[in-house]
Parts: sequence; C-alpha cells; structure tokens
Amino acid sequence: MRRVTEPPVLDESGLDRALDRLRQAVRRRGLKGSSVRDAIARAALQRRGHFSVDDLLKELRERGVTDVHTSTVYRVLPLLVEVGLLQMTLVSAGDGARYERAFEREHHDHLICTRCGKIVEFEVEAIEALQREVAERFGFRLTDHVHELLGTCKDCSAAAARG
Ligand SMILES: [Zn+2]
Ligand SMILES: [Zn+2]
Repeated sequence: MRRVTEPPVLDESGLDRALDRLRQAVRRRGLKGSSVRDAIARAALQRRGHFSVDDLLKELRERGVTDVHTSTVYRVLPLLVEVGLLQMTLVSAGDGARYERAFEREHHDHLICTRCGKIVEFEVEAIEALQREVAERFGFRLTDHVHELLGTCKDCSAAAARG
C-alpha cells in the first residue's frame, strides 16, 4: 500500500504526446480535427488536482478560449477519458462529476474527509486485483473503476474530540 503524490504539471512535450494520442484516436473514429477540442484537452491536462466542468470552463475563459459551449465540453470529456488522458473521479462530490489527469501518471484511488474535504490518493495492488476478480466472476469486462473511501481525517477527528 502506498500513498500517491501529484506529479508536476504536464510540460509542453508531455502535452504534445497527449495531443498526438488524442488526434490518432480522433482519426480512427473518423472524426475531424478540432482546435476547440484540442484547447479543451490542453486546459484539462494542465489543470492541477480534481476539477469539475465549471472549473474547466473558467480555466478556458482565463486562457482566452471564449468560443467554447458547455455542451461541447460535456461531449469532449468522455472522449478524453476513453482515450486515457483523463480519469473520472470523486463521484461522491455530488454536484456533478470530477475529473483529473490520467495521462502519464499512476492510477490511484481516494480517501476523502467529509468534514474538511482533504483528499488522500493511494494505490493498493490487492484492491486492484480484487476488483478485477469481482468483474471476472460476474462476466464483466472492466473499462474503468472509481473507488472512494469516505470518512473523517485525523485532524478533524482530533478537533471533534477537543469539542
Ligand atoms: Zn478533515
Ligand atoms: Zn486523484
């Protein structure tokens, strides 16, 4: 079992590799290249941490990309997940999905403090293996999983005990 730390923001050559992968996938699907799609991918890949669709729209506006419709972002994000550039995460956040970069970083799951929002990212091979076993047992071919543990972190528990 180990804690996973967030890697540095993807640099320009990393971005190029990610966009290459995206363009190849787009071509295989017979879709046209799109500068808006690329701009969404760039913004999403360089965001730190876990972000919502609203966070991403704000980021795009800050980058001067103003001609993006919310519906376009909703259409592009699942493609970025499918291609392995992003992973869906923090489903329990409630008000819509969260995403984070998956490209050139390790798969991980999350511990979430429901009081202060602290997030610990971890990886346990035994849990990964068990999930694959469960899927196999029920005849599922796994495409992805989201695994979250909710609770109270050490600091919040101590604060509660102090009253
Ligand atoms: Zn906490
Ligand atoms: Zn994460």
